[in-house]
Amino acid sequence: MPLIVQKYGGTSVANPERIANVANRVVKGWREGHRMVVVLSAMAGETDRLIGLAREVAEEPDARELDVLMATGEQVTVALFSMFLKSQGIPATSLLSHQARIYTNRAYGRARIIGIDTARILEELKKNRIVIVAGFQGVDEVGNITTLGRGGSDTTAVAIAAALKADLCEIYTDVEGVYTADPRICPRSRKLSRISYDEMLELASLGAKVLEIRSVGFAKRYNVPLHVRSSFTERPGTLVTKEDKDMEDILVSGVTYSKNDARVTITRVPDVPGIAAKIFNPMVEANIVVDMIIQNTSIEGLTDLTFTVPKGDLKKTLELIQPVAREIGADKLLSDEHIAKVSIVGVGMRNNAGVASRMFSTLAAQNINILTISTSEIKISCVIEDKYTELAVRELHDAFGLEHVRPRNRLN
Ligand code: ADP
Ligand code: ASP
Ligand code: MG
Repeated sequence: MPLIVQKYGGTSVANPERIANVANRVVKGWREGHRMVVVLSAMAGETDRLIGLAREVAEEPDARELDVLMATGEQVTVALFSMFLKSQGIPATSLLSHQARIYTNRAYGRARIIGIDTARILEELKKNRIVIVAGFQGVDEVGNITTLGRGGSDTTAVAIAAALKADLCEIYTDVEGVYTADPRICPRSRKLSRISYDEMLELASLGAKVLEIRSVGFAKRYNVPLHVRSSFTERPGTLVTKEDKDMEDILVSGVTYSKNDARVTITRVPDVPGIAAKIFNPMVEANIVVDMIIQNTSIEGLTDLTFTVPKGDLKKTLELIQPVAREIGADKLLSDEHIAKVSIVGVGMRNNAGVASRMFSTLAAQNINILTISTSEIKISCVIEDKYTELAVRELHDAFGLEHVRPRNRLN
């Protein structure tokens, strides 16, 4: 019997009515003869509410206890969901992470899945039950509760789909699929029928939160076909899949943005070997991910060094850098939280040199200053002032003709 893993996000299970609605969709699949594993998020807003509660009792909540708290959000939805199904006479069972045996390391708040023992899930499926698994949470080797990071239910779903070798993994959300830009800020954005794993990885890492990045990594590594779609309609969504020849014809697949980063600049740093290591080593040890780094040309042996870090890590970063900056005799340590990163992504840009210049001139035409640039084979990112984010996304979307289906999306 085919096996389908379905994941429902917070808005899809936001209240009892929606839970019932979504449950009926699951039952439909089950009646058609599919084995069904359902992964649920907490109700919309619940995880934020829990974090708020934690902050009311502690300025910096203990990471272990915060995970114990946050994991309750998903416990509520799986219980209600399963309860509803049983009340309708449908065999179902809810499983928390220790019962579904989703094992992670102990990095509270950003734990990594290291293995899933599928025996219990398979046992339940054998009894013809619908299995409802709590997303976002895991358990470490001694039984501590962990969470996978915000949006982590996507990762739970894909990891389970990979472990069970599911025939399909469907991610149900509040938009109809993956769009050429966030449909909430770009009215002309268009739903993509397909997108490659690599493009989706870039989009996710550059801010398109429709899929959590690690879920895409799992899907790519284990070749899990992903279908991103809406729980509010029956229309087909977006298939995230292996790259094929057709995809290369498309220069740019999407525009995305992120306001998650802050910029740090150290001025008048001595331009001698070993300085970068001195500055960045403490950050590596503190698990802070540095994204863009630029070093200006040095003048009289002194240079400015600029880099970006997640906003949540800015305070820690400054604490770590302050003593180093003093030690190496740098002049100033500056930071700026009012920045945004806008990016364009597409496998077709590999063979096309004109993409970057079109991006830069589009921003220039709007008088948007580019603070930092970074590129990879299939993406170009620019850091700008955050007040221009929406304008930049819309203008870039227009400049690359993304509202049109191929082949108008070309440079000439
Ligand atoms: P869920 O709670 O179902 O996991 P999320 O809020 O995490 O849903 O992700 C869905 C949201 O992602 C959408 O509401 C949309 O605003 C946002 N989003 C950002 N970029 C894109 C994009 N390129 N395509 C579709 N949605 C996007
Ligand atoms: N409930 C968690 C969050 O809000 C996980 C998820 O929804 O995927 O981040
Ligand atoms: Mg999400």
